[in-house]
Amino acid sequence: MAVEKTEPGKVELGTNVLKIIPIGGLGEIGKNTLAICYGDDIMLVDAGLAFPNEDMIGVDLVLPDISFLVENQDRVKGLAVTHGHEDHIGGIPFILKEMSIPVIYGPALAIGLLEGKLKEGGLESKTVMRKVRPRQKVKIGCFTVQFIRCTHSIADSFSLIIDTPVGKLIHTGDFKFDFTPVDGELFDIASLTKAAEEGVLLLMSDSTNTERDGFTPSEKTVWKRINEIFSSAPKRIIVTTFASNVHRIRQVLQAAMKYDRKVSILGRSMLNLAGIARELGYMTFPDGLLIPIDQISKLPHNKVVILTTGSQGEPLSALTRIANDEHKQIKIIQGDTVIISATPIPGNERSISNTINALFMRGADVIYGRDAGVHVSGHACREEQKLMINLCKPKFFMPVHGEYRMLVLHSALAQECGVEPQNCFVMENSDVLELNKDKGVINGRIKGGIILVDSSRAYHINEEIVDERRHLADDGLVTVALTLDDDRQIIVGPDISLKGIIFPRGMSPEEFVGKVQSEVRNILYVNPTIDALSEEELSHFIQGALDGFFAEKMRARPLVQVIVHQVSSTGAKTSQKAAKSIETK
Ligand SMILES: [Zn+2]
Repeated sequence: MAVEKTEPGKVELGTNVLKIIPIGGLGEIGKNTLAICYGDDIMLVDAGLAFPNEDMIGVDLVLPDISFLVENQDRVKGLAVTHGHEDHIGGIPFILKEMSIPVIYGPALAIGLLEGKLKEGGLESKTVMRKVRPRQKVKIGCFTVQFIRCTHSIADSFSLIIDTPVGKLIHTGDFKFDFTPVDGELFDIASLTKAAEEGVLLLMSDSTNTERDGFTPSEKTVWKRINEIFSSAPKRIIVTTFASNVHRIRQVLQAAMKYDRKVSILGRSMLNLAGIARELGYMTFPDGLLIPIDQISKLPHNKVVILTTGSQGEPLSALTRIANDEHKQIKIIQGDTVIISATPIPGNERSISNTINALFMRGADVIYGRDAGVHVSGHACREEQKLMINLCKPKFFMPVHGEYRMLVLHSALAQECGVEPQNCFVMENSDVLELNKDKGVINGRIKGGIILVDSSRAYHINEEIVDERRHLADDGLVTVALTLDDDRQIIVGPDISLKGIIFPRGMSPEEFVGKVQSEVRNILYVNPTIDALSEEELSHFIQGALDGFFAEKMRARPLVQVIVHQVSSTGAKTSQKAAKSIETK
């Protein structure tokens, strides 16, 4: 359904209209954050982060703009967490830096992971965290939230049934229907059907796999293949998966026990998760199973498993360093088996293929890819999405968690399952859905956008800076420095410095510099009006003229920086502002 977008800021709170506002997670995979508003109460479902695209140079994390929440912080009564994945909890520390949240309810594993994050950031005093059990009900403002067990790729995942003054909402969280879950925790389908009998106003359902037909196989299907590999691998086995995939890590540890191998875990996030999951009882293994990395050289090769992060080809991960022969303790030897037990998140395909190539080159046998049987998704495919809609029988439907096309497809699927077309809402982040018992309408928008974070410096990065970095990476930098006298005659320079410039065919660097120098002289001589310009204006002027020159004559688009010094009778002065005048396009 095409919706005409209204300007942000026209959202009226404090009324008896139920408002559903996605702050992140729509039109994208990641940073799932949803606000539900009624009267003077706001509750949040999850607060996640996303990872940057390859072209967001120097950006570590992407967060949604939370100014709507900060402005309305007195109304925020609490947050319900569905599960412990970073795209559902990773944004919480950043929100708590800006404001308090009275209470956060969530599954024990997610709360365990959050406790570590808040401690690290010194943020424990900004909220109270409460662990919930399956079917437990909690009050958040005027909302009653019931946590019901669902199945997903991380243990201890919940869907939510939320009673509001207008009607019942169901938020699936991330889910698949796994009828043989490895931890034996079955999807609480009975609670869904019970809610359906009472009447479900709105279903918000996970759209991640809506382009895939059929059913997602059970996590248990991976066990068979892992078993086969472990039973025949001649030397060491190196397994990589998402650090948060508790079920998968659990299965690898089980296989190691079965085939009498010791396991060394590499990567802080995976070690942290295994520790918390074991402490909370989501996996059990004997003390002697895990060994430090420096001990593995003492064991025969066929007694070793290395479990590592790096399934996305992340440059600093242990697996990438092993593949590139840059790891201090682990060198690949002929006959090692590497299992890539994950699929690439869109955007990471190239880095993971580079890692796989490098591993093959060093003699490893690499088992990877969709058909290798070593990975299954944690998200529902189309038949499961239909099942969810059938079980909940909602009046209104809002697809969540997915890129725009996935939301459209998922909405069409709901209509096939009998939801009225005018009751399906394909929304974008910041849109406001208003609901009463009979009617829903997308009305208004909050201020939205993204915040880019350099995590090493815990610093927000301006989008213009990312653009500058991209421009620098693509086209290089030309710096022009010149000193003028009072009459605007050149007395030193122009000095030209080049970084990362590709020269036109057949032109030497000296010729290129010569051409730029004569162009700068030309710009000064043919423009008598420059006498009236300040140094800052003059450097801008030269910069603009050089942009045109590079584009037309040199077929290049470098970032141009111009520094003008003027020497007057009172001595030399440098235009500080001119020195900073880096063009930003
Ligand atoms: Zn998830």
